[in-house]
Amino acid sequence: MASRPSFLVDINGVLYTGNKPIAGAAEAVDFLRDNDYSFRFISNATQSCRATLHKKLKSLGFDIREKELFTAPVATARYIKKTGMKRCFLITTGDVYKDFKKEGIVQTDKRPDHVVIGDAGKGFTYERMNAAFNYILEGADLIAMEKDRYWRSSRGLALCGGPYTAALEYATGIKATLIGKPSRDFLLLALADMNAKPKNTILIGDDLITDIAGAQRAGMRGFLVTSGKHDRKDAKRSVIKPDEVLDSIAGLRGLDLYNKKK
Ligand SMILES: [Mg+2]
Repeated sequence: MASRPSFLVDINGVLYTGNKPIAGAAEAVDFLRDNDYSFRFISNATQSCRATLHKKLKSLGFDIREKELFTAPVATARYIKKTGMKRCFLITTGDVYKDFKKEGIVQTDKRPDHVVIGDAGKGFTYERMNAAFNYILEGADLIAMEKDRYWRSSRGLALCGGPYTAALEYATGIKATLIGKPSRDFLLLALADMNAKPKNTILIGDDLITDIAGAQRAGMRGFLVTSGKHDRKDAKRSVIKPDEVLDSIAGLRGLDLYNKKK
């Protein structure tokens, strides 16, 4: 008999786009909770700290607890703490630094141990990029909280941290350590947080590469929702084959989640 699935639910493009909740998404979260499924919400969003993201989800009508959010900045801060070298130069925006402060990470622009790059938006200035470039040449390592190419903002497609990380890699010849999705370690840490196993887990996401391929590579099932970045045409054209394609997470309730074994 197939066992009861656990869920990793991507946030942006699955629960909301921009500042608008996706129709039926809040009810889908209630459905998971009411039926006692295990779940975590995962995100490569690096424009705000976890507490702020939690506030946003609450204001959009989602019944979600802060500890159910597993984000790339939180995972990155924990990773850095484990290295024992806590001096960082952050290329981030907004209040992301708070996730680092909470873990005792020190922000500095003097001989940092790590250059940490996220989706800094307007914070990607020439000065900061050039400072990061020099720190890496002087021995700092490069940590990417995400390497997404772009995302769908409320004003259309927008560049993420990936292109800027690639610029630093190109200039220095040093490859970044990726912490966020689709890093297998990130997904497995999120699973460990709820005691789940990859083969019983379904990842629901809107990105074929970051979500679906990442999930399948880590031994999970990947359900694509077309409410965000990628549509059914993208899925058809892609070599990545989602285990399900849904118009939105609201479609989860109509599925037989037990009998979808590959
Ligand atoms: Mg997404």
